[in-house]
Amino acid sequence: MSRKLASIVTIASCDPIPDSDNLSVARMAGKGWNVVTQRGEYKPGDLAVFFEIDSYLPSDDPRFEFLKNRCLKKFVSKSGQTLKEGILIRTCKLRGVISQGLLMPIGNFPELCDVTDGQDVTELLKVEHYDEVVEALRPEIGGSSIAAEAMGKFPSAFIPKTDEERIQNLGDYFETMKDRVFEVTEKNDGSSMTIFLSRTVDPENPFGVCSRNLRLKPEVENGVPAQWQIVKKYDLAAKLEQINAMFASEFALQGELVGPGINDNRDKYTDLEWHVFKIWDIANQRYLNPNEAQSLALQMGIPYVPVINQAMNVFDELTTMEAILAFAEGKTARGHEREGVVFKSVDDKPFVSFKVISNRYLLKQKD
Ligand code: ATP
Ligand code: MN
Repeated sequence: MSRKLASIVTIASCDPIPDSDNLSVARMAGKGWNVVTQRGEYKPGDLAVFFEIDSYLPSDDPRFEFLKNRCLKKFVSKSGQTLKEGILIRTCKLRGVISQGLLMPIGNFPELCDVTDGQDVTELLKVEHYDEVVEALRPEIGGSSIAAEAMGKFPSAFIPKTDEERIQNLGDYFETMKDRVFEVTEKNDGSSMTIFLSRTVDPENPFGVCSRNLRLKPEVENGVPAQWQIVKKYDLAAKLEQINAMFASEFALQGELVGPGINDNRDKYTDLEWHVFKIWDIANQRYLNPNEAQSLALQMGIPYVPVINQAMNVFDELTTMEAILAFAEGKTARGHEREGVVFKSVDDKPFVSFKVISNRYLLKQKD
């Protein structure tokens, strides 16, 4: 699922910022983002183009020229050659107000004719996901530990790729999820890793290790990639065998790889670790209840992401976007600024999960 970074939105409100003569804060219908704009630029009901945080905009598009001073982000190779440049949209604070994303009047984009609210215009406007750009340039800019190599694609026909939507894009949850009960876990800030043992997925080679998008080779020229070191560290192939036998099914375990050399290691681990956050039953095509997943992981001696609350009536306790965003802010179990929290339903209704990223974390993030 690729992220809808640029889309058509309807302006819901524009309120003047008290400390400023010329700025307003705009909100959009059905969305929880606040964006600081010029006063008078929009009125409720206007259609606009909205670029979410993490958008990487083409720097040769003159319509984004005004952002070059503040937001130009260039990639340079080890030998000093410019590899790519673009304009990076991040969280910022203006006059004490958090602003997230970029709003632009629809009139600036004559190529967008006959658009409707919600329409995805990411590709049309050549917007890229900054994190994906960084990943693609990784071999040339360096920075990560032993680079894994692909032996194939992630088997997404059988196992969902890991992903979580942000609460700001799920504004209706404050109504529709009111009586629902969720597990609350810390969002680990590493790299997604899935393992599976399934003859359905691969009859020849049933044990697989994957990153977010790829199935990984056990060895590369200069050593064993971190993901396969983890398999050995926790004896995961044998443990999956046991889990499959226990439930007479086939499973995939999904977790976050953290440690030195992984995504800046902001939680400062001294060794590679892997923390399970979801368990997928491949034969029955469903996630285990998060509370069951947690006890199964612990029973097997595999770490689980830090649990903040096993069963929380989230939308009874946190009734506004401000409240849930404030809840996400805090320290990790290890005492560093946390990226946020992930909510997963634990009641009997259809499984839902989503993330809330801490704005305090986003404001501290430097790039
Ligand atoms: P974007 O929102 O820009 O698309 P992204 O898709 O790269 O970002 P993240 O913001 O990293 O994703 O959020 C989803 C990821 O969070 C999952 O893929 C998973 O790897 C990771 N994660 C870390 N901790 C947890 C947790 N406790 N529960 C679920 N996922 C978690
Ligand atoms: Mn995503």
